[in-house]
Amino acid sequence: MQSGCSKCGKPAVYLRRYTSERLCQTCLLETTTDRVRRTINRHKMLQENDRIAVAISGGKDSAVLLHVLHSIESNFPESELIPVTVDEGIIGYRDKALEAARELTRSLDLTLEIVSFKDLFDYTLDDLVQLKPDGSLGACSYCGVFRRRALNEIAKNMKADVIATGHNLDDEAQTVLMNIMRGDSRRIARTNVPRSRSIDGLVPRIKPLTELSERDIVAYSHHLNLAYHDVPCPYAGEAYRNDLRSFLNDMEHKRPGTLLAILRSAEAMTEAFQLNPSNWTLITCERCETPSPSRICKVCKLLEEIRG
Ligand code: SF4
Ligand SMILES: [Zn+2]
Ligand SMILES: [Zn+2]
Repeated sequence: MQSGCSKCGKPAVYLRRYTSERLCQTCLLETTTDRVRRTINRHKMLQENDRIAVAISGGKDSAVLLHVLHSIESNFPESELIPVTVDEGIIGYRDKALEAARELTRSLDLTLEIVSFKDLFDYTLDDLVQLKPDGSLGACSYCGVFRRRALNEIAKNMKADVIATGHNLDDEAQTVLMNIMRGDSRRIARTNVPRSRSIDGLVPRIKPLTELSERDIVAYSHHLNLAYHDVPCPYAGEAYRNDLRSFLNDMEHKRPGTLLAILRSAEAMTEAFQLNPSNWTLITCERCETPSPSRICKVCKLLEEIRG
């Protein structure tokens, strides 16, 4: 890249398309951290003395999340970062990602806490895929439901005030469109409950990277040489999401700012849904006593089907 950094004039190494900023390495790292800090403040995600469980997958998003939070939180000595990983039990994949997660946390002098599907539910994801009824949900649906629960359990055990996850702008825009196209726009609000409306028994979740594009994240991790694992999961292949990813990449390329506009629309929809309290009624699951929209929660329902 020929021209100078928009901030300081040094040689630029990166073009952030949706803000039209050309950035040198120092300004790339600084503005990335600033964007995350602004997202955190805009949505009042964190308080000064929080114990923050940081969900680490071993991939680049969570590596950047931990690294950026580590630098932001160094100004708040009362706060604490607790990296946590869910081991779903996917042979040949999760074990490698765990090595990367361990290396990353060691480099920041943090200890990685691990919880496994096997310990919590008696089955690995590989077991669940073998045992699930024919024609039922795909592997990723089981994985998503059980991982959400596992993260909540480990965060409760670690007495965390909040769980931070590494969803980026591209992930969020894809999810928003997927929910709209499946006719389930209420889910956009249900999965983005603000911390101020947190529900007893569910540790509030925050997504500090939602205003960073995947390109920003790749550039940040590349310039810091962060340890991460980049091999796709053997069960990956959600065709719907992949179609949306290429459609959105195309739109973002033609009209930079499209992803951010989808995120802002989702925020407005979430706010509108929150005005109707009937959207937020949860009862307690009769089996495991976790807050749930139905008498038997999704985790217990799926486990019941597996046990037959
Ligand atoms: S691709 Fe699907 S099965 Fe694999 S880790 Fe992700 S959600 Fe789980
Ligand atoms: Zn610069
Ligand atoms: Zn339950």
